[in-house]
Amino acid sequence: MNTTFGIVGHPVTHSLSPVMHNAAIQHLGLDADYQLFDIDPQDPEALANFTYETDLNHIGGFSVTMPYKEVMMDYMDYYDPLAKAIGALNTVVNRNSELIGYNTDATGALAALKEKTELPGKKALVLGAGGAARAIAYVLRESGAEVFLYNRTEAKGQALCQALDIEWIELASIGQAAFDLIINTTPVGSHAESAESGASHSIITAEAIAPHAVVMDIITQPLETPFIHEAKKAGAIAITGERMLLHQAIGQFELWFPHAKAPVQIMEEALYAALSSTSSID
Ligand code: NAP
Repeated sequence: MNTTFGIVGHPVTHSLSPVMHNAAIQHLGLDADYQLFDIDPQDPEALANFTYETDLNHIGGFSVTMPYKEVMMDYMDYYDPLAKAIGALNTVVNRNSELIGYNTDATGALAALKEKTELPGKKALVLGAGGAARAIAYVLRESGAEVFLYNRTEAKGQALCQALDIEWIELASIGQAAFDLIINTTPVGSHAESAESGASHSIITAEAIAPHAVVMDIITQPLETPFIHEAKKAGAIAITGERMLLHQAIGQFELWFPHAKAPVQIMEEALYAALSSTSSID
């Protein structure tokens, strides 16, 4: 019987997840498919109904994107310890009618960073204090980095610093701190945010980025964000958002199909082909 996978969120129309997962499924000849599950946030029953009917609909697992990464935790039978520690998930596995929540955003970000740098002992700065910031700051800390955080809304940033036992830093002090790693987890510089604010900018400029730094922006639309531009201007190594997107998807695939190794090159080629022809995200 064909098993269905997909992405739960709203909106999901522009998701890049189907191209990566369907390419992998087809390449390995698996009896499965990956669909879009657009769940209306205005309908109070919709998310619960979706999770209760996974068996009925032969759903083997699903990706979770905004705005459900935190609320979906309430519908799980079990969590992976990493998802529990972060308090959010992006992946659900239906194992023998029990839903298990995982967070491959965290491991995906880590894998993307490790393509360019080691993490133990590095002085790292996370910009932002939302769901992605929480996941990334947590895994950086667990990987042995010394983690600092700055956020527009200080109270929210300070609360996250306290929860994760990491350091707060003022925007004006970032330049002097000479960070080895800087990760932008905010939407600042994305097409969506630029359209809303009427301007495209970076939270920090080249003068605040050390030339030896490794810099990652997790935005995928566009890939060349103002922050990435500033990083290159500073002479830093820049990692664009599709690397995290790819690695979080590889992690998901291997959770859903534990006996199949994810065909990384196939997924990567599908992602880059889609990125060159679409204005998608997540
Ligand atoms: P979120 O929970 O809504 O958090 C957004 C954070 O960005 C908050 O800390 C917010 O600060 C800050 N922010 C928003 N607008 C800002 C502005 N104009 N100026 C300064 N700070 C601003 O979002 P999220 O789930 O963490 O996602 C963040 C971004 O990461 C999105 O663009 C998402 O698409 C992307 N993402 C990419 C991947 C990937 O695989 N590449 C995976 C997950 C997410 P306040 O606290 O002040 O509001």
